[in-house]
Amino acid sequence: ACAALALSLTACGQNSEGGRDGGTGDAAEGGTIGIAMPTKSSERWIADGRNMVKRFEAAGYETDLQYGDDKVENQVAQIENMISKGHRALVVAAIDGSSLTDVLGRAEEAGIPVIAYDRLIRGTGSVDYYATFDNFKVGELQARYIVDALGLEEGGGKGDGKYNLELFAGSPDDNNTGFFFKGAMSVLKPRIDDGRLVVRSGQTEMNQVTTLRWDGGTAQKRMDDLLSRYYGSERVDAVLSPYDGISIGVISALKSAGYGTKAKPYPVVTGQDAELASIKSIIAGQQTQTVFKDTRKLAEQAVRMTDAVLKGDKPEVNDTESYDNGVKTVPAYLLEPVSIDESNTELLVDEGYYTADQLE
Ligand code: BGC
Repeated sequence: ACAALALSLTACGQNSEGGRDGGTGDAAEGGTIGIAMPTKSSERWIADGRNMVKRFEAAGYETDLQYGDDKVENQVAQIENMISKGHRALVVAAIDGSSLTDVLGRAEEAGIPVIAYDRLIRGTGSVDYYATFDNFKVGELQARYIVDALGLEEGGGKGDGKYNLELFAGSPDDNNTGFFFKGAMSVLKPRIDDGRLVVRSGQTEMNQVTTLRWDGGTAQKRMDDLLSRYYGSERVDAVLSPYDGISIGVISALKSAGYGTKAKPYPVVTGQDAELASIKSIIAGQQTQTVFKDTRKLAEQAVRMTDAVLKGDKPEVNDTESYDNGVKTVPAYLLEPVSIDESNTELLVDEGYYTADQLE
């Protein structure tokens, strides 16, 4: 309305500062949304940030998008800065889910609502809503894939019917890590207990298998070590990996140990995020599976939630039980994750997530 009616320049000046697309009016009231994302080292977070900026701007807000380079102190400083600039709301994907208590306390004092994005923020009452995927189900999909790919339901096919499995989990400071691992173990544990799956390293507790900051290099080192210590003449048949960047590290270690030939094929390796490098790896017959979480839909959900809170409406939620952060149970909206392997990579093209060219 402002641009069309040529109102006073002072009123319009505010509207045009943040590079909004100018379509929907009301930006002066919309104000600025602070978006704190963890890292640019993984494609998904870049897409998450980009998608939110686009949608917030279309809804009449300006945005301040910051990446913390996986360093907790950067993220805290960025959020502090957003609060002191008087941003109207914060959307935060935490680097360390438990380290934002103080800074979010200040947001609450300033009356700034906080939406946890993808990762739950723990140990604070100062988080209003949570937009994420069904994180338990992500782990279930990965584990279910392993069980099906090995033919375990049919009693196993490798002579002795036993398969060697190693487990990887995500960053210990990310609340999602426990959900992914628990979801996966709900499927794997009974089969480990009855001996059909053998974890030769004996490392089956989550705290033995986490990967700080989801780092692929760290995972590669651990896989190198597992292969040399526990797999002399034995072969690993499956690796539970919670994230594509970890899968890529695991596959590098496998390759160095001579896997990826006819005589010694790659094990089943799961993943998450449907990152381009992993989709290509799946098509090339290296990684086996990933979990697609449409970040466009998550961004849309987070924007809708934020907009509702700012307008004094109740955001739509579909889970009010699962996400207890230690201080409160945060009302959440969970989206559905989808398992991808070489049989359905096309889905990503059909959904417009990638173009056919990108997958070539
Ligand atoms: C996200 C995953 C992602 C991982 C590493 C998790 O919190 O839910 O989608 O793979 O962080 O970035």
